[in-house]
Amino acid sequence: MAGMRIKKGDRVRVLTGKDRGKEGDVMRAFPETGKVIVDGVNVAKKHQKPTRATMQGGIIDKDMPVHASNVMIVCSSCDKPTRIGYRGEGAAKVRVCKKCGKNL
Ligand SMILES: [Zn+2]
Repeated sequence: MAGMRIKKGDRVRVLTGKDRGKEGDVMRAFPETGKVIVDGVNVAKKHQKPTRATMQGGIIDKDMPVHASNVMIVCSSCDKPTRIGYRGEGAAKVRVCKKCGKNL
């Protein structure tokens, strides 16, 4: 998928769904599918079988991927969710905040 703008380590805000308004850090990005895993967002309860090591099972929280179009990057300079702009050309291209113009 061309041009996924959100990358691992970005701080994002969720725009839709049950976690709307939540913010978290991107733990993983999947450019092939256009999805991201955001810390603490879209958490599913997973049943885990007991393992030989711990001898206990239980329910664990697992962050499920959300589509990148459902989140917006939060600018570290102006602290607002923003669209991503670009400045420069080719390899020197940098992401900038559309609101304050600072580098993201
Ligand atoms: Zn900004």
